[in-house]
Amino acid sequence: MIKNYQALGLKLTPQRLAVLNYLEGNKSHPSAEAVFQALKKKFPTISFATVYNILETFKAKGLIQELNIDPTRKRFDPDTSFHHHFYCFSCNQLFDVDLAIPLLKEARSLEGFEVQKTQVNFYGLCPKCRVNKRK
Ligand SMILES: [Zn+2]
Ligand SMILES: [Zn+2]
Repeated sequence: MIKNYQALGLKLTPQRLAVLNYLEGNKSHPSAEAVFQALKKKFPTISFATVYNILETFKAKGLIQELNIDPTRKRFDPDTSFHHHFYCFSCNQLFDVDLAIPLLKEARSLEGFEVQKTQVNFYGLCPKCRVNKRK
């Protein structure tokens, strides 16, 4: 990500660098609020608006993708590769789903349409929450 960043010619401010470092390899699919809470420890004066704007800039440049799977808030994913997600209703965690879904192949042959992107959202309970529910 940081390598891509330099190629985009964006000015690397300390705040932007901090957001980049936080997101690099981050699998938690954080919300803007979660990024803000994490950065506040290092930058006590940083505002939520600043973090939000940085995330929007990164999204616009294709460094991260926005996910609309969580019904309560936008989530961000530094992994911009093609993959699906699972949302747990109980703990609100987002998981990457690596599945080949036959339906998606069929969608590519939709008459008259050119499908450029497909993303499947799965909802339910993660393994941990399933176990807790049974107790
Ligand atoms: Zn869960
Ligand atoms: Zn993901």
